[in-house]
Amino acid sequence: PQKHLSMHKTEAGFHTLNVELGDRSYPITIGAGVLNDASVLADRIKGKNVVIVTNTVVAPLYLSNLEKELRNLGKVTSAVILPDGEEHKHWGSLMMIFDHLLSQKCDRKITLIALGGGVIGDMTGFAAATYMRGVPFVQIPTTLLSQVDSSVGGKTGINHPLGKNMIGAFYQPQAVIADTSTLDTLPDNELSAGLAEIIKHGAIIDLAFFEWLEANMQKLRARDEQALAYAVIRSCEIKADVVRQDEREGGLRAILNFGHTFGHAIESGLGYGKWLHGEAVGCGMVMAADLSCRLGYIDFVTKTRIKQLVEAAGLPVIAPDLGEQRWLELMEVDKKNEGGQIKFILLKPLGHSVITNVPEELLLQTLRHCILD
Ligand code: NAD
Ligand code: MG
Repeated sequence: PQKHLSMHKTEAGFHTLNVELGDRSYPITIGAGVLNDASVLADRIKGKNVVIVTNTVVAPLYLSNLEKELRNLGKVTSAVILPDGEEHKHWGSLMMIFDHLLSQKCDRKITLIALGGGVIGDMTGFAAATYMRGVPFVQIPTTLLSQVDSSVGGKTGINHPLGKNMIGAFYQPQAVIADTSTLDTLPDNELSAGLAEIIKHGAIIDLAFFEWLEANMQKLRARDEQALAYAVIRSCEIKADVVRQDEREGGLRAILNFGHTFGHAIESGLGYGKWLHGEAVGCGMVMAADLSCRLGYIDFVTKTRIKQLVEAAGLPVIAPDLGEQRWLELMEVDKKNEGGQIKFILLKPLGHSVITNVPEELLLQTLRHCILD
């Protein structure tokens, strides 16, 4: 997959990879301390006027430094500080962004900068896609999940009371700047949630990366700088390559939902917010591995390796007992469910994935087994 990505060392040893999407291509720059590198900031953030969108948790940590760096570059900055949390990823927060932009008389040359996790990134991207029919947008992801997953690929949006991420747009940023040193302040459970999506990338596409994760999981959890940077780089490469081939999820991109059919059922079955998304995906991958094993796609040893890696990442591996009927109902409403059949992304073998429906009897066996141990 790597041959399609131009990857090179840049300024001060940071890594830049390019997401190849024709005239919507953009660079992702990754490294510890990249937010303090004036030449990277100057190159990636072209506009003179910028509005930084962030939240009440991230602002005290990283906003003033970013504003200072940008002002040193001669930029005019202001900030919108939204309340923190998934429950605020809604229309009201979007309106706060628009209120600020309009009251400041921002025109189509304004650049919006998302400074925060996936919630801030998704909302800011959607605001940028729609304000005056589209303005430039730069992602500065500060959670592991947003650095390896949500900041790559151009899906933006907000939640509706009747469904998560139901209102949105595909809209690519001009650049992504991922400073891995911001992960130092991230709570442990949020770090683990990001590790789930990293494990996913290895499991579905890259056996060598999966093996690297097995060897380096303790370093990652200890926030070893080099290990984190490599994991973020490799994950972004994998996701960017999938997105390059299928930007709007016509087919292939669905493999990124490995573990998510089970994971979404856990999230909505327990009530959103009980488990973090990454926790539900971690457990969901263990369940999808169990199902892959029952179909003969992977062997028992491989299935056990997956469970051990998820566990080593600090993620749950035992499924909540929602009741068999409820489990089935919840999986049927998943958006990958087409034509009445639940579609599963399964490993065949580890490092490769297939999208398929499965006999209900095997699915029930997986549910029973994963709830018990
Ligand atoms: P989040 O944005 O809620 O961040 C998690 C928590 O960490 C928040 O409280 C946040 O304020 C805090 N935080 C952020 N950076 C921090 C830092 N450096 N130090 C300390 N605390 C910090 O959650 P997330 O996991 O980053 O993102 C989840 C969201 O991303 C969901 O809304 C999901 O739908 C979306 N998502 C989108 C895509 C996509 O393709 N667009 C993909 C995956 C997930
Ligand atoms: Mg996910």
